[in-house]
Amino acid sequence: MNVYEKLNQIISSASNVVFFGGAGVSTESGIPDFRSADGLYNTEYKYPPETILSHDFFISHTAEFYEFYRKKMIFLRAEPNACHIKLAELEKKGILKAVVTQNIDGLHQKAGSEIVIELHGGVARNYCMACGKKYGVEFIIECSGVPLCPCGGVVKPDVVLYGEALDENTVSEAIHYIKRADVLIVGGTSLGVYPAAGLCRYFNGNATILINKTRTYFDDDADVVVRENIGEVFSKIIF
Ligand code: ZN
Repeated sequence: MNVYEKLNQIISSASNVVFFGGAGVSTESGIPDFRSADGLYNTEYKYPPETILSHDFFISHTAEFYEFYRKKMIFLRAEPNACHIKLAELEKKGILKAVVTQNIDGLHQKAGSEIVIELHGGVARNYCMACGKKYGVEFIIECSGVPLCPCGGVVKPDVVLYGEALDENTVSEAIHYIKRADVLIVGGTSLGVYPAAGLCRYFNGNATILINKTRTYFDDDADVVVRENIGEVFSKIIF
């Protein structure tokens, strides 16, 4: 049995699949991974992305943060790829119960997925730090400089910046789904970024499928390992 036959066999006999995805899922939709070598490191900015995208920088250099953020973090024209689309179809069939993602681009929702647990938040949601009023992504794009609420407060993206803790409820929700899954598909992540590896340890089901171009910490424990582009892999999955 080749790797795709095995993949199809596992997924077709599953009833509770959870997908855990990282940056590799979005790179095939043209969204750069700023943590990878060919990502955003060699850019024209005075500070490395990890500095700009930190809580302290947001507070102290809000206008510079937004200059970078609007150009490099918001990709409204990006389209879902085969991975996003197949996962949404699997959910509609009742086989996939949740997508847990480290991405903030909202492409799973754009593809039609409904249960999407965004560990690092999402660019679609923004809120006033003073009064809590919520804003869509258009509000951020359509203004220049620092987006301000009519109350005078600064509007902040609901995205987990460096130096910020993950939302506890979001993490609990991810654990809830991972614990109950019979198949866990991990895709587009080397599981090296906190808290990915820790969350996957809650999985107690039948089969783990790893789809990533490079080796991951879980390769030895996985039932199937595919080292190819995730969009191509999903385009070959039949169910
Ligand atoms: Zn306000």
